[in-house]
Amino acid sequence: MDLSYTAEEEAFRTEVKTWLDANLPQEWRNRGVGGYREEEDESVQRDWQTRLYEGGWLTLSWPKEQGGRGANPVQQSIYMEEMAKAGSPPIIGRLGVTLLAPLLSVYGSDFQKQEYLPKILSGELVFAQGFSEPDAGSDLAGLKARAVLKDGQWVLNGQKTWSSGAHYSDRSFLLARTDMEAPPHKGIGMFLIDLRQPGVEVRPIIQMTGSGEFCEIFLTDATVAEGDVVGSPTDGWKMAMATFGFERGGLANAYRFESAVRALADLTRRQGAGADDSARQRVAQAAIEAHVFRATGLRNLTRAQQGQVPGPEASLTKLYWSEMDKRLQETAIAVEGMYGALDPESPWAVEQGRWQYGWMWSQAETIYAGSSEIQRNIIAERVLGMPRGR
Ligand SMILES: Cc1cc2nc3c(=O)[nH]c(=O)nc-3n(C[C@H](O)[C@H](O)[C@H](O)COP(=O)(O)OP(=O)(O)OC[C@H]3O[C@@H](n4cnc5c(N)ncnc54)[C@H](O)[C@@H]3O)c2cc1C
Repeated sequence: MDLSYTAEEEAFRTEVKTWLDANLPQEWRNRGVGGYREEEDESVQRDWQTRLYEGGWLTLSWPKEQGGRGANPVQQSIYMEEMAKAGSPPIIGRLGVTLLAPLLSVYGSDFQKQEYLPKILSGELVFAQGFSEPDAGSDLAGLKARAVLKDGQWVLNGQKTWSSGAHYSDRSFLLARTDMEAPPHKGIGMFLIDLRQPGVEVRPIIQMTGSGEFCEIFLTDATVAEGDVVGSPTDGWKMAMATFGFERGGLANAYRFESAVRALADLTRRQGAGADDSARQRVAQAAIEAHVFRATGLRNLTRAQQGQVPGPEASLTKLYWSEMDKRLQETAIAVEGMYGALDPESPWAVEQGRWQYGWMWSQAETIYAGSSEIQRNIIAERVLGMPRGR
């Protein structure tokens, strides 16, 4: 198997690097080491999105007819790797750009494509994801928010939770029940709701990291125009599943974990734990796992390059990297010894608390985009053909 890049692919890599050198300021690089600290970086994330949009990078994989560059999966993975190497910050509207925009480009009405796609990509409109509710997370079909059509507009009532970035978002792509009589998966709609209206209250939830990155959303007779429903008013489940496909099947970025392993090895040496058998075993194990992850990524890339659509293996990838990162972060905390218990903001915290922060953030990774248990259920049923669990 030849895993080397072609001359054309290397030229593309040079193009990405050159653009980054010219457009990504040094002070924006590696700001979120060990997990991003979202609220500190809001203006940087906004500016960064504008630059990427103007550079045409946010539609890299989109077909040329839709204004994209039609980049193939290898080019996309080169782009992501160079972004990670440069330590680029996240973009402010990442949920809109990575989940909603591809959805609208397939299922959106002509009005929605014209009205929203350019604004989502440019960052003019930032969208939050409004799926989860206090009693509907893994079991999303149990959601209770209701939408009723009254006098030509939808009126929404209910509560959403864990909505990332809703406090600085303009809108949300939000699921609500439109038909109370239909079976759970059938009577749901997806609404593009304006969060800055009187019927909507957004309350940030303070997490254990100290930041209020995600929010509760309370809807009290909030309204949505009829033209702002994606697909038909009972297509919401299909729309939600399509967004999960984009979220879990996104090309995985092995570089992030390989560089974390290098940083972990450095930390282990500096903390004087390099000669400790248990620490050495764990760091070596992390290196092996990162390597396996790269090999799996290359296999997925080959499949994608051959035009094969990611199937349930997206669950394998999501499960593997999230569990792997959790182990890696736990090893770092163990290597820090007593210092591992310090608040990341403490003046005595090792490496400005990056590992404590990373450890806390890694706890979320096995929950969002479908928890590890849910991914294992999918693998058991759809990859291994086992019967559905109760
Ligand atoms: C950092 C972060 C960001 C998020 N951002 C958003 C967002 O922007 N928008 C949004 O809508 N949501 C968001 N979420 C919510 C996320 O989608 C849910 O947390 C997730 O779906 C799990 O739902 P839950 O928290 O209600 O847990 P539950 O579904 O109540 O699960 C509790 C536990 O039971 C297990 N479990 C549940 N069902 C099964 C089963 N059938 N078999 C075996 N085990 C099971 C789960 O794995 C978990 O361990 C975010 C979550 C996190 C952590």
